[in-house]
Amino acid sequence: MSEMGYVIAPPPVVAVPVAGGGLFPVRRVYCIGRNYAAHALEMGGDPSREPPFFFQKNPDDLDPSGSFPYPKHAQTVHHEVELAVALARGGNDIPVEQALSCVFGYAVAIDMTCRDLQDEAKRLGRPWEIAKAFPRSAPIGPIVPASRIGHPSKGAITLAVDGMLKQSGDLAQMIWKVPEIIAVLSRYVTLAGGDVILTGTPSGVGPVVRGQIMEAAIEGVGRLRVEVV
Ligand code: MN
Repeated sequence: MSEMGYVIAPPPVVAVPVAGGGLFPVRRVYCIGRNYAAHALEMGGDPSREPPFFFQKNPDDLDPSGSFPYPKHAQTVHHEVELAVALARGGNDIPVEQALSCVFGYAVAIDMTCRDLQDEAKRLGRPWEIAKAFPRSAPIGPIVPASRIGHPSKGAITLAVDGMLKQSGDLAQMIWKVPEIIAVLSRYVTLAGGDVILTGTPSGVGPVVRGQIMEAAIEGVGRLRVEVV
């Protein structure tokens, strides 16, 4: 290996399949907290339009495999169905009116959360990473290009466990809409093509156990079936 070469093998590029063919290479994964009023209330929060807050998952936490390995270290792992936004380009201080022009497409994702560890982190004022950014913590379906489906701003967003409907909301219930999320986030970080943003979950989050099947769906985007293993 040359003097300027990598000293170990570079990690593989993380990629999510695109509906219709191709792979979307992932750069970063951002998530917004409490973006549906009913979920903010069920988590003991304020459903008003207080400024949004963000956290991150790791790119390789995204998992298109259709199975979710239950983390050994967790007691209570919750599902949070979310609309994922995949960016084709980014920037800083993106105006709301231009934000949708940055979007490549959309996917159904589940922000799997170790709720016991998150509750402990909240109580102790610690970061959330250990509860949110663990391996394969973000099952995701194929990314559907906006050129095919447009930019969904309303439509049912649901999650069922073993056929029982647990989460049922509408994209129109988002406190901060997709263009606003992109605009606000771009004030704090430089967004770029390859970034994926999870846009928050409606109410009805709850635990899963091994052997259960989660079926998530977003009207106009698609469906995602994930087995907890
Ligand atoms: Mn979430």
